[in-house]
Amino acid sequence: MEELVIKKARAAETALQHITESQEEQIKPIIFSIKQIQKKINETCQKHGMADICMSCGGICCVKDMETLCDDDFFFNLFYNIKEETKQKIFRALENNTQQEECAFASPQGCIIPETSRPVICKIFFCNRFGNFKKTISPLASQLCEAVNLLFLKLTELNLRFTKR
Ligand code: SF4
Ligand code: SF4
Repeated sequence: MEELVIKKARAAETALQHITESQEEQIKPIIFSIKQIQKKINETCQKHGMADICMSCGGICCVKDMETLCDDDFFFNLFYNIKEETKQKIFRALENNTQQEECAFASPQGCIIPETSRPVICKIFFCNRFGNFKKTISPLASQLCEAVNLLFLKLTELNLRFTKR
């Protein structure tokens, strides 16, 4: 499984290195929208004082193999305009993964994925500790799912997905 995730990540990296201007014009607004929605989710969590709940629980949702759920659209969004240093850190985490119980991207300092590029499941899952907040965040969660789905379809249409090559 890990090998497949690494292949998808490398394929997304390569595709981004060779992306045409026309292809970029089509995916750029979608990626921008995904990052904006993720930013709004972060701000809403902070505004309602929810940001510390996961930290106080120790992030127990970040279980082993969560990284294997990451697909092409995730790596495209993640690697678009990312700092080279951050990208290399992410590849090292995948390629040298020795985590026994946690996601490959978990670290003692928290998740190593930039806050506006995390996997959708990590952004929209809120356990019962969040109570009614789940309803508050629901419209943004729907927007995020729609935007990510749009990116997936656009990458497929442009033949930029690993599975289509
Ligand atoms: S969603 Fe709930 S269980 Fe998961 S890390 Fe946050 S507080 Fe913990
Ligand atoms: S990607 Fe980050 S937030 Fe999501 S499960 Fe892994 S460590 Fe946790």
